[in-house]
Amino acid sequence: MTITSFNPPRRTLMGPGPSDISPQVLAALSKPTIGHLDPLFIGMMDELKTLLQYAFQTKNDITMAVSAPGSAGMETCFVNLVEPGETVIVCINGVFGNRMKENVERLGATAVVVDGEWGRAVDPAQLDACLKAHPEAKFVAFVHAETSTGALSDAKTLCAIAKQHDCLTIVDAVTSLGGVELRVDDWQIDAIYSGSQKCLSCVPGLSPVSFSPAAVEKIKARTTKVQSWFLDQTLVMDYWADNAGGKRSYHHTAPVNSLYALHESLLNLYNEGLENAWKRHADQHKALATGLAELGIKFIVPESERLPQLNAVYIPEGIDDVNVRSYLLNEFNLEIGAGLGAFAGKAWRIGLMGYSAKNENVLLCLAALKQALK
Ligand SMILES: *Cc1c(COP(=O)(O)O)cnc(C)c1O
Repeated sequence: MTITSFNPPRRTLMGPGPSDISPQVLAALSKPTIGHLDPLFIGMMDELKTLLQYAFQTKNDITMAVSAPGSAGMETCFVNLVEPGETVIVCINGVFGNRMKENVERLGATAVVVDGEWGRAVDPAQLDACLKAHPEAKFVAFVHAETSTGALSDAKTLCAIAKQHDCLTIVDAVTSLGGVELRVDDWQIDAIYSGSQKCLSCVPGLSPVSFSPAAVEKIKARTTKVQSWFLDQTLVMDYWADNAGGKRSYHHTAPVNSLYALHESLLNLYNEGLENAWKRHADQHKALATGLAELGIKFIVPESERLPQLNAVYIPEGIDDVNVRSYLLNEFNLEIGAGLGAFAGKAWRIGLMGYSAKNENVLLCLAALKQALK
């Protein structure tokens, strides 16, 4: 057997993530590796924290990137905040809400489900009714942007309802961060996690997280040890907190070059401006939606609840899912996403995330789909 270097083709990534990565971010990745306790690296990490606070719109001191993908960010939030025997209300309207429930149950806690319709936003009235029926609940968890269905929930309203019932809020912002309006402090979000490879257009494998002062207090008041050693924030906080006084101690080896890339992608977002980035996603979504309508392709989610960065559409009748996606990949180097969960085989998910949300991608996708449908 002869093994040679791996040379991936240059694809256009318009699926549910990873998204296209800009040449600057890829270049940042190949800069020289330095030690993760090198003073220059620590200076870069301080900037990274400031950039993350900007992206999340938060002043939270505990704002950092977990050294693992979005799923680990999810697990970080649940494993640190929730103790065995506690009750968490989990709103489920797609695949990722289900994963939250899995997390809660594996911790020996109780998940009370607000069972929502797939392809729709979480219903605030349903959450309110559930909170009234479960005064023992300490947390409300939901997915802001449900990537499996393309639905955007009203995070501000859902958090406000949770707060009326004295609950801490845990929010999945893996697909929403950088793509749609998100304001952690204004909206009273206590624990939030995201992913590097969706609207931040960075390499996969990092999960930005942030904890409010109330969440930190809850973690510090734990009576049981955090089950996971690696994700235990009480051990990592010292590395990231301001009060570390510049003294960073070893917990695990930081993924140095991936963090350079995250720094660069967040700097791009900062230079563009959050509002401008949100508008760019909305504009590109409109252009794509107009073109899809001309091809007779219909959206799953009602217009007012749609995610601009993840367009979930029904596969037209008589069209073979796998044939079309292979054709796009082989003939146009274009990746779009398949349906997930209840939508497997019935839907396509067309991503317009981060660097992928641009004119040339929208036009390529529409032209390639038109050709494929012929
Ligand atoms: C992609 C995604 C995740 C999981 O992120 P990974 O980086 O794949 O682990 C979680 N939640 C949502 C909403 C996602 O879109």
